[in-house]
Amino acid sequence: MVDESNAPVLERDSAREDTRRKKSAKPKGRQVTDADLKAVAQIIDAMPRRRDMLIEALHLIQDAQGHLSAPYLAALAELFRLSQVEVYEVASFYHHFDIVKEGEATPPPTTIRVCDSLSCAMAGAEALIADLEDSHESGKVRIQRVPCIGRCAAAPAAQIGKRAVDHATLASIGSTDDVSEVVPDYETLAAYRKAGGYRMLADVLSGEITPDSAIETMSDAGLRGLGGAGFPAGRKWSIVRSHHGPRLMTINGDEGEPGTFKDRHWLESQPHRMFEGAQIAARVVGCERVYIYMRDEYPAVIEILRREIEALETSDIDVVPMEIRRGAGAYICGEESAMIESIEGKRGLPRHRPPYIAEIGLFGRPTLNHNVETLAWVPDILAHGADWFAAKGKPDHPGLRSYSVSGRVKEPGVKLAPAGTSVRELIEDYSGGMEDGHTFKAYLPGGASGGILPASLGDIPLDFGDALFKHGAFVGSHAIVVLSDQDNIKDAVVNLMKFFEHESCGQCTPCRGGTEKMVKLLSKPGALDEGAIRDLEQVMRDASICGLGQAAPNPVNHLLTHFRDEI
Ligand code: SF4
Repeated sequence: MVDESNAPVLERDSAREDTRRKKSAKPKGRQVTDADLKAVAQIIDAMPRRRDMLIEALHLIQDAQGHLSAPYLAALAELFRLSQVEVYEVASFYHHFDIVKEGEATPPPTTIRVCDSLSCAMAGAEALIADLEDSHESGKVRIQRVPCIGRCAAAPAAQIGKRAVDHATLASIGSTDDVSEVVPDYETLAAYRKAGGYRMLADVLSGEITPDSAIETMSDAGLRGLGGAGFPAGRKWSIVRSHHGPRLMTINGDEGEPGTFKDRHWLESQPHRMFEGAQIAARVVGCERVYIYMRDEYPAVIEILRREIEALETSDIDVVPMEIRRGAGAYICGEESAMIESIEGKRGLPRHRPPYIAEIGLFGRPTLNHNVETLAWVPDILAHGADWFAAKGKPDHPGLRSYSVSGRVKEPGVKLAPAGTSVRELIEDYSGGMEDGHTFKAYLPGGASGGILPASLGDIPLDFGDALFKHGAFVGSHAIVVLSDQDNIKDAVVNLMKFFEHESCGQCTPCRGGTEKMVKLLSKPGALDEGAIRDLEQVMRDASICGLGQAAPNPVNHLLTHFRDEI
């Protein structure tokens, strides 16, 4: 029975309920318009709408629009059947994606990126940035400081859109309308085959070289992973092959370690050495697909890879299918498990290990991951034999290495030298000596993370193993940066720590907070708080998830150990 005295109240409540229902008839959150859906669908065209294609789709939208708008991100989420937050978290993780929120201005049509990592900083990047900011209207051209773009031998380096400029000055940067990549002359498929290329692959395919003998040859040659970890290649092939298929292969072309540019050098000159090595490795290990993860900072390399993969796939050579995946400006994706996350269309967060990617890697499958240079040696080693390669190195240091040499030397560049060559030999015998007026004072033996050693330790063989390790240093990707009496070591260390702060993926506190705090401690005026620095160093080493956080304090340790007169 209804109490009539309450009737007006009930009517009012019922009216409120109707209003609430009408409002909730629409889904919550950002709504996607048909027009945005259509526009984004047109941009991504026939691309498969799978999670692992997400970063590629973001690239296509950014290439088309010059940025990523909030409505387009929402439309992309709908097309990929992902939540908007999943798309946003990926887009916002990578430095090369420009997200424009509602009400924000879109970025200027042209971006000039200037590298401010160590070699470029030593060559005057700061002055160049100041000159550029003075001479360009901010609404028309955007000047961005960026970490290493792999052109350290021609420092300071800049990129206008996709066009790289070596030894950049206001004059050499020239017109900001010219933004296309410049593809250098390189050895094409036809030229490589004419010189005998792909014969070793043919021998593997015909069974003349068996998988077991190929693995044995790699082990006997002493070929190691040259992306930084130095794991023996033959052993890696055996391990991945021992896991049940189907298996996959990844090639890590994300050489973001400041001071490293050897992979770019080889891919811009002789890309088929890597392709043939990759095809041989894929056949020996039984990988059914090869994913090439290439850093977005190398647009000319990406173009070469596209052309030559097409040439290979339309040739009479029986190739394992290959796909290129573009990185998007995240150094951490050079770490293999972070790279795999990125290929899967996610943020590049390193995974906890075990399991190792050799067992559970890309898409959960056993995965063989290699660096570009490692693969480039494979055909030569099979053609000439393990002894040939091993004998090219110094005693106890088998093989040849591509050292990226930059800094205060007369002739910086990629130096092909025996494994175990010292920095003093690299300077004197391979790089024309120190620049005029500069005296050798210190060097980075392995990019930003390998530490910074004094000239008095300049005769150490630069290779994997104990010789560097006992000094708290490592050779990593063989990026050698030479500093002189005119360089301040503390300034160099702050530059390196700022790089790590910028590139920490943020997954774990010791690294995320530690890198930031370390920059503050080093930059504080007055005497350094060595106690706090040493405590922080220990926490970062012990508790960071991956090598970035664990190795980031290396240069700081060396500053306090070897360069006390500069602190
Ligand atoms: Fe990320 Fe740094 Fe932790 Fe590595 S150590 S997972 S880069 S936060």
